[in-house]
Amino acid sequence: MLVKFITCSPAETKKLGEKLGRFCCRGLPSLSQALVISLEGDLGGGKTTFLQGLARAFQIKKILSPTFIIYRSYSLTACHFQEFYHFDFYRLQKASQIKKLGWAEKLANPRNVLAVEWGDKFSSLLPLMKIQVEFKFRQLKEREVLLHFPPSWSPKWSTSL
Ligand code: ADP
Ligand code: MG
Repeated sequence: MLVKFITCSPAETKKLGEKLGRFCCRGLPSLSQALVISLEGDLGGGKTTFLQGLARAFQIKKILSPTFIIYRSYSLTACHFQEFYHFDFYRLQKASQIKKLGWAEKLANPRNVLAVEWGDKFSSLLPLMKIQVEFKFRQLKEREVLLHFPPSWSPKWSTSL
């Protein structure tokens, strides 16, 4: 299922991230491994901005960039998930680099959330059941944000924020 939004400011993109975060916190059916949210699309498209809103829904106070260290993790207390991982594949050259960072173990745990910037760079690492968020630069302050859900996870949303 595809849900399309247009945002007109960074604040709106954060709000959309928070909306998705609240939806995920309420619990998705049949999670047999980590919840993966792959953030894809244009540089400057709003992936990090969206993530700040997403993290807010999980009551993470401040998200710091993991660009140079590949990932950062945050312990959760606000919902049934235990750990939130913020990955950034931007600087990764090879899938083997991420495997060495314990990717498989993190993915195997249904209590983990893995939010991955540039997830499509190594899409073979991502599970079939995931949420993909695609960002398109439209104008200086305007972004198109496409949320792709597996059919059994589809939210009942209107296209308004
Ligand atoms: P990415 O992580 O995809 O490279 P960032 O979130 O780091 O993108 O950067 C997006 C940039 O675009 C920020 O400087 C932000 O202030 C700006 N911006 C302008 N309009 C929007 C919008 N509607 N949504 C998100 N970011 C926006
Ligand atoms: Mg970014």
